[in-house]
Amino acid sequence: MQLDARIPLGPLPEKWDRCRFETQLVNPANKRKFEIIVVGTGLAGASAAASLAELGYNVKAFCLQDSPRRAHSIAAQGGINAAKNYQNDGDSIRRLFHDTIKGGDFRAREANVYRLAQISNTIIDQCTAQGVPFARDYGGHLANRSFGGAQVSRTFYARGQTGQQLLLGAYSAMMRQVKAGRVQIFARKEMLDLVVVDGRARGIVTRDLVNGAIESHTAHAVILATGGYGNVYYLSTNAMSSNVSASWRACKRGAGFANPSFVQIHPTCIPVHGDYQSKLTLMSESLRNDGRVWTPARADDQRPPHQIPEQERDYYLEKKYPSFGNLVPRDVASRNAKEQCDQGKGVGPTGLAVYLDFAQAITRDGEAAIRRKYGNLFHMYEKITNHDPATEPMMIYPAVHYTMGGLWVDYHLMSTIPGLFVAGEANFSDHGANRLGASALMQGLADGYFILPTTIGGYLGATPPPPLTSDGRSTFDEAKTLATARTNTLLTIGGQRTPDDFHRELGLLMWNGCGIARNAHGLTEALARIPMIRDEFWQNLKVPGTGAELNQTLERAGRVADFLEFAEIMVRDALAREESCGCHLREESQTEEHEAKRNDEAFCHVAVWELDADDGRPKLHKEPLSFDFTTPSQRSYT
Ligand SMILES: Cc1cc2nc3c(=O)[nH]c(=O)nc-3n(C[C@H](O)[C@H](O)[C@H](O)COP(=O)(O)OP(=O)(O)OC[C@H]3O[C@@H](n4cnc5c(N)ncnc54)[C@H](O)[C@@H]3O)c2cc1C
Repeated sequence: MQLDARIPLGPLPEKWDRCRFETQLVNPANKRKFEIIVVGTGLAGASAAASLAELGYNVKAFCLQDSPRRAHSIAAQGGINAAKNYQNDGDSIRRLFHDTIKGGDFRAREANVYRLAQISNTIIDQCTAQGVPFARDYGGHLANRSFGGAQVSRTFYARGQTGQQLLLGAYSAMMRQVKAGRVQIFARKEMLDLVVVDGRARGIVTRDLVNGAIESHTAHAVILATGGYGNVYYLSTNAMSSNVSASWRACKRGAGFANPSFVQIHPTCIPVHGDYQSKLTLMSESLRNDGRVWTPARADDQRPPHQIPEQERDYYLEKKYPSFGNLVPRDVASRNAKEQCDQGKGVGPTGLAVYLDFAQAITRDGEAAIRRKYGNLFHMYEKITNHDPATEPMMIYPAVHYTMGGLWVDYHLMSTIPGLFVAGEANFSDHGANRLGASALMQGLADGYFILPTTIGGYLGATPPPPLTSDGRSTFDEAKTLATARTNTLLTIGGQRTPDDFHRELGLLMWNGCGIARNAHGLTEALARIPMIRDEFWQNLKVPGTGAELNQTLERAGRVADFLEFAEIMVRDALAREESCGCHLREESQTEEHEAKRNDEAFCHVAVWELDADDGRPKLHKEPLSFDFTTPSQRSYT
């Protein structure tokens, strides 16, 4: 497997400009001749579909939901970063670049991250022009708030519904192109396979989720914008339909998978409250602007929060990290919450929670002001827990939230399969070992609105592919036959256990063995156990109903089958990376203060997994990372 990142030469601030200048253009008349498939209509997919169609390409957009605008991106609450420096508080493109590289613990490519910081400002302009209702300050400028891992206010937001508002913007832009006839929407179609003809991505195989029809679709290039794989843990803050299937199928067709074990655990989620829960709810990180995190100072203190006096509370983040306080990055906040609970200082019925307290902010600014800022989040918390955060502290605990790993892409966002591009959370590109808050939306939109429209043109213009009609027919037929056979197998096993039952077992194993903190012993045990669960799955799975109707158990079964294979790669990757970095804490590699300790000599690389074409065994490749414009240092937030 060749891992050529194709990073343009020259000074960092000029690389993207140089790439745009040197990348071949496709003339407007020729663009009409090309067809592009976009799988996924979240922020990355919808923005890509809209922009490519605006340029004149013919786009086919696929998604699982009944409407493209119900993609998981709709759930994003807190905001989107950009280096506008409206606040005059010292922000700049260079600072956003630096914070992002440092936040990712020096495990991302400098060139990609610098480009992201450059594009961030254009995204805000584009979305504002589309009518996205960002919050404004008293003078009418767009307002900003701060987020973890930054000492400046650079997060643009629309109350606690930023993802929803941004998605409506991208969706509207895409629907304009539906009307113009350049985007065709395929809702409720699940991609089951990627079709590669003569070494190039040339289409996909889908299953219609309503009537079960297996179909193939051809294109000159395919974009996967299918989101993250946090649901491998069963419980996560992701939408129920978030999955790894599309990326995993591409990996099985030859695409390299990068850093699969890089998973982000978010510190502010509503704690688990029962055995049969299927979903965890995020409380936005923006709450840590005003909420103070604490636990009782002594272990096993059962008193309700209002009975615990100030001097008997441990504001552990403010004490340990005086400069960043409650706004330390997510990995630091998550690990510290776990540490408090491990010491017996956790609160609530399970002891697996810490307080997030707004009392001081309410005394300072008044309840109305705090409710104005966080109204829908307070409302959501109260609906779920029946407790009002304005009168008693929220209880929060870390949960799986985001995946930094994904299909490997070069600077052009092309995978190791020519013609297969990957955008948004589905690629591994910009967050290194830890994503800073409000940076995922920024990356997804940078990919879709600005990067792919340039780089796909370079691919199509440089090697015009043959006509789509007759090309590779037998390869498409073969892929359809395989997909049909797999679906039939899932339906006919006739065992006793539901897909969710297997998924729950896998999720718990992954959380315990490959979660907030990992060690060689736990990972080795997980690696031994996963194939056993997988074997039982293929012998004892129960899927009622048929394949010719809406059958959500069948859908789940296919996705769980992929999680069961993919989980093994995650664990292998975690085992191979014997250092700690970002969210990935190997217990064997810690500083004296229990912070993650990197090993740059041995692990300053992207770990890329390839499945051997003959026996399917995973092989590890490495893309070395070099830092020419920043100096990797031990991350410190004190
Ligand atoms: C609760 C929550 C809050 C968040 N808040 C923020 C925030 O405030 N700021 C921030 O920057 N980030 C936030 N994030 C992260 C951010 O929301 C996601 O990383 C981002 O929205 C992912 O966008 P995407 O376009 O890559 O994928 P998604 O929005 O997940 O879209 C995936 C698309 O792929 C489709 N799809 C998937 N598999 C298939 C398949 N096999 N066949 C066909 N279609 C398929 C789906 O239907 C969907 O359309 C949050 C995440 C969560 C979970």
